[in-house]
Amino acid sequence: MKKNKNEGIVVKVAEARSRDVGRGIARIDPVIFEKMGLMPGDTILIEGKKKTAAMVMRGYPEDEGSGLIRIDGYTRRNAGVGIDDKVTIKKVSATPATQVTFAPTQPLRLMGGEEYLKNLLEGRVITRGDVITLNVMGNTIDLIATVVKPVKDVVLITSSTEIKISEKPAKESQGISMVTYEDIGGLKEEIKKIREMVELPLRHPELFERLGIEPPKGVLLYGPPGTGKTLLAKAVANEANAHFIYLSGPEIMSKFYGQSEENLREIFKEAQDNAPSIIFIDEIDSIAPKRDEVSGEVERRVVAQLLALMDGLESRGKVVVIGATNRPNALDPALRRPGRFDREIEIGIPGKNARKEILEIHTRGVPLAENVDLEKLADMTHGYVGADLAALVKEAAMRALRRVIPEIDLEMEKIPVEILEKLQVTWEDFMDAYRE
Ligand code: ADP
Repeated sequence: MKKNKNEGIVVKVAEARSRDVGRGIARIDPVIFEKMGLMPGDTILIEGKKKTAAMVMRGYPEDEGSGLIRIDGYTRRNAGVGIDDKVTIKKVSATPATQVTFAPTQPLRLMGGEEYLKNLLEGRVITRGDVITLNVMGNTIDLIATVVKPVKDVVLITSSTEIKISEKPAKESQGISMVTYEDIGGLKEEIKKIREMVELPLRHPELFERLGIEPPKGVLLYGPPGTGKTLLAKAVANEANAHFIYLSGPEIMSKFYGQSEENLREIFKEAQDNAPSIIFIDEIDSIAPKRDEVSGEVERRVVAQLLALMDGLESRGKVVVIGATNRPNALDPALRRPGRFDREIEIGIPGKNARKEILEIHTRGVPLAENVDLEKLADMTHGYVGADLAALVKEAAMRALRRVIPEIDLEMEKIPVEILEKLQVTWEDFMDAYRE
């Protein structure tokens, strides 16, 4: 156990167990927990690139002597660190907050949202700039704590804290992705690969420089739609603290028809100005089909431009382009040459265990009735991809909602949150949704 000058203790970051995700807690190696004289429920300040706070719990017995702190992706993001990074922790006391204002990352009106949020966050510790992710009936909403009163490092949300939600989205959210690895079901090997290929060079370019190896400029993710390719790209951007730019292949070709090349140049410039960055190109086969397949004049020019931009990228891994396609063989082979999209990761259809994990992820924060058996549901949903499972959960939740309010307007922003709180989604809701 290393102590640094301001009396903090340096520990290594590991991912949280799934049951601990979204609770704002940190599990610390029991040995360190003892040495620091901590009690469960104490507050610690966690310092990585950024500061955040968490409530501590004793780590699991298997972590004894490991020097680890287990925190979920939200807390990692709030601390500006990734898995295997070091953070400094320190016991602190949290001042009760008089007021905390949250700004959503996208325009949002949640009726009664303040009360709901307060119930949810009561007893949690917050620092300014923290991002809180809510799951409201299968939809995730990110909120950034923009104002914290009194102005302290760490405040505690109590029953007398005034919670405000501003209607305007927070500025900080632009180009920032909030998805974490714990939001991805299955795909363990694939996550490992993308961490090595993309996260490592983005976070530690000096390693690659020193060893004289060129980190990849382009990675191709291929597999059927809805299997989590976009999700994976967003997660790696988030975990590497990189700027994320989403491009849809077909949209580039249609919306900007005639000025696609200029547009691409601007996007690469934005990426370089905000580096480290990830440019994600969805359905890349539509921009860069095999030349003999379609080969309009425009496509040819756009592919040439894309290749020129990638060739011109300064190496060192500061900007990585991730392309996604479900038809890898339809892609212009020029794109797959060395120095371009020369790495590939296949993203397949989830198996049963992965389906169960995906269902668990999408029912986080969804009030499930006792009779809901996710194991069984995973068994029944052979052939479903992640997007299908997410849709199933949403549909089941909608059925529960309609039971409560027969005439409800299904626009999510108009559903009063008090009603959501009383709801339960039952097995029958899932079965009705499943049969549809
Ligand atoms: P793709 O890019 O492969 O077409 P996406 O990543 O856009 O698929 O997936 C669409 C949605 O489906 C995601 O936003 C998520 O809600 C859900 N989803 C897909 N795959 C997974 C997964 N492996 N784990 C959790 N959710 C998933």
